[in-house]
Amino acid sequence: MSTGVRPLFSLAGRVAVVTGSTRGIGLAAAQALARQGASVVINGRDVAAVEHIVAEGQKEGFDFRGMPFDVSDPRASILSLDRITSEVGPIDILFANAGIQHREALLDFELADFERVIAFNLTAQWALAQHAARLMVTRGRGRIIFTGSITAVLGRERVSAYSAAKGALHAMVRQWSTELSPQGVTINCIAPGYIKTELTQSLWEDVSFDQWLRERTPVRRWGQPQDLAAAVVFLASDESSFITGQTLVVDGGLSSTM
Ligand code: NDP
Repeated sequence: MSTGVRPLFSLAGRVAVVTGSTRGIGLAAAQALARQGASVVINGRDVAAVEHIVAEGQKEGFDFRGMPFDVSDPRASILSLDRITSEVGPIDILFANAGIQHREALLDFELADFERVIAFNLTAQWALAQHAARLMVTRGRGRIIFTGSITAVLGRERVSAYSAAKGALHAMVRQWSTELSPQGVTINCIAPGYIKTELTQSLWEDVSFDQWLRERTPVRRWGQPQDLAAAVVFLASDESSFITGQTLVVDGGLSSTM
């Protein structure tokens, strides 16, 4: 029998879009959002992977829908957000999560690679989130969450383009919050530390890096995609309505220690 008490962090009736959600951090966040009752739109470029994740999620009882599109193409992102609005419903939550990495020493970094990383991790996120924000302010509510990075907080070699783009996202949430939050839309960022996903495979397969990371991180382990999911649910929920323009670091304490 219902007690009539609304559970904390309920997302029942909400529509969430998670870019890059066929694996890794995006998939774990999509599953967690669905567990809280949201209808979640799964995205990636690989159509078969999107269909597979949607089918698997539906077997678990999640309200998963698929919308494959390439986030590197801002026009595709805008058209897809419009399609989701008409086919699934008005978007309440955007987790702009997809990102790419290119590791190279600073002095060897090609300008074309710098521009490709900036175009994806910054410009494309800007266009995607701007369109979502336009849709959200017409309804006077919304949640936008970016995936930033610990490398935008602490220096690390070979990721100069990536950290520049992610640092810009950390700055953007502060600036955008001043314009969006008076209109009911909060915007925040999560900054993962080192999380065991395909993106970091070359690092966790490197025995000396793996050992260094475990010793360097106070909780003594790699992050798992699920470690980010609760933070995403919280920032997507009504309960976080007084939190905007912030970056929440989820790194097992890495950035808190010398
Ligand atoms: P994964 O490589 O595990 O997953 C990436 C996801 O993004 C996949 O679903 C992939 O699907 C999708 N994707 C990639 N390119 C595109 C594209 N052009 N358009 C649409 N979808 C795309 O990455 P993570 O889960 O590790 O990373 C997620 C986010 O977290 C990124 O922004 C990353 O920078 C950030 N991050 C990760 C950290 C880590 O340690 N893992 C640390 C700090 C930040 P498909 O290939 O089929 O398109």
